[in-house]
Amino acid sequence: MRIILIGPPGAGKGTQCQKLVNLLRVPHLSTGEMLRAAVKAGTPEGVEATAYMEQGRLVPDALILGMVTRRLEAADCRAGCLLDGFPRTLPQAATLDDLLERRAMSVDGVIELAVPRDELIRRMLARKRADDNPEIFSKRITSFEEQTAPLLDYYQRQGKLASIDGLGTADEIFSRVREALRRFARAQGRRAHRPSPLPDV
Ligand code: ADP
Repeated sequence: MRIILIGPPGAGKGTQCQKLVNLLRVPHLSTGEMLRAAVKAGTPEGVEATAYMEQGRLVPDALILGMVTRRLEAADCRAGCLLDGFPRTLPQAATLDDLLERRAMSVDGVIELAVPRDELIRRMLARKRADDNPEIFSKRITSFEEQTAPLLDYYQRQGKLASIDGLGTADEIFSRVREALRRFARAQGRRAHRPSPLPDV
């Protein structure tokens, strides 16, 4: 099964992704982590991405799509994966749909972790990361609102979106995530007229 987790920076995607991969036993594809590894290794993609990341801007779609396509084609992703931080723009989402469709696959469900902006800022001030200075951080939130939030509509129209409240303890939020998975499983069963391939969650 293929699940996408969408949320603004600081929404707690990392924590929920860890819990999700433990439950679903699928590879965790985080484009932020792939990019940070590429930057550290000094690959051409890493070099190209650095300036964008430092400024809190999204890196170009072509770069991300090349990276993700290679990863999605790996054998361990055949049975599914958890996409974290991707897609982040409408062209990325449309390309992902095409890519999966050509392989007779699809996105099974999209979970939005909704957290208000002032809470995101409060959390950011309480943690530390190189691209976490307040000015850059608010640029990343703005990138999210302008470029990524339209994806919510895109997936809503496909009947695949579950928006959940991102406030509360990690465990409280994860029980909402599990509830969303159960909804996806039911919807998928209805679409396919067969038992869902999702594990018992
Ligand atoms: P966060 O979700 O906390 O903003 P990520 O670790 O997902 O952080 O991403 C860090 C940075 O990497 C982003 O600010 C952006 O510059 C870049 N990035 C990650 N994923 C993508 C993507 N799918 N498209 C474009 N840029 C991306």
